[in-house]
Amino acid sequence: MAINSYVHYGTNYNNAFWDGQQMTYGDGDGSYMISLSAGLDVAAHEMTHGVTTNTANLQYRFEPGALNEAFSDIFGALIDDANWEIGEDIMGPGAKADGRESLRSLSDPSKYPVGAAYVPYGNGKGKYPAHMNEFYDLPRNLDNGGVHINSSIINHAAYTTAQDIGREKLGKIYYRALTVYLTPTSDFSDARKAIIQSAVDLYGDGSSEAAAAANGFNKVGILE
Ligand code: ASP
Ligand code: ZN
Repeated sequence: MAINSYVHYGTNYNNAFWDGQQMTYGDGDGSYMISLSAGLDVAAHEMTHGVTTNTANLQYRFEPGALNEAFSDIFGALIDDANWEIGEDIMGPGAKADGRESLRSLSDPSKYPVGAAYVPYGNGKGKYPAHMNEFYDLPRNLDNGGVHINSSIINHAAYTTAQDIGREKLGKIYYRALTVYLTPTSDFSDARKAIIQSAVDLYGDGSSEAAAAANGFNKVGILE
């Protein structure tokens, strides 16, 4: 398909998005963010939304939506592969002065606070979750039920798996799960099964890759 990007959207717009058909990027306000199109991981995140729309088509709410977001962050971090951070190249001087070096972290999600509106729905610490025991039970009207919040749990599972088998195999396994097994209503438990099965398909039953896929989900408390 044609891949269209719409840039210089709005005024001082600190965001980018996939609208179901194309990507749109703001220029940032120059303090919190600079031009969002300057971030390779941001562009990869938005493009992955396009891949997801045309494959698993995960619904953009609650756990399926958090999976949708996680696949975008994971492929963002695999394509912009110098680190496990999202958005480190588009943070502005004001954000950095506040200690915000990136938007989200796959290696250590809980180093950043969530927005104030979300805090009452978590465990009280107000940080991005890295385990199911830190899951945010958000209503639909707040971030579509936490799609950019609970995604961090899956992000951290993927990061953990990559520590065992590397980025290349992680990408092959997660891409297979997204394009072969997952469906619009898949939840976190379905993702565990799909990702382990994909590792078995690619590397064999009893392989170290299948064990690493399971280990990632075990680490974040998605046990079945
Ligand atoms: N603002 C969203 C994000 O942080 C944009 C998106 O989900 O594409 O990822
Ligand atoms: Zn997204």
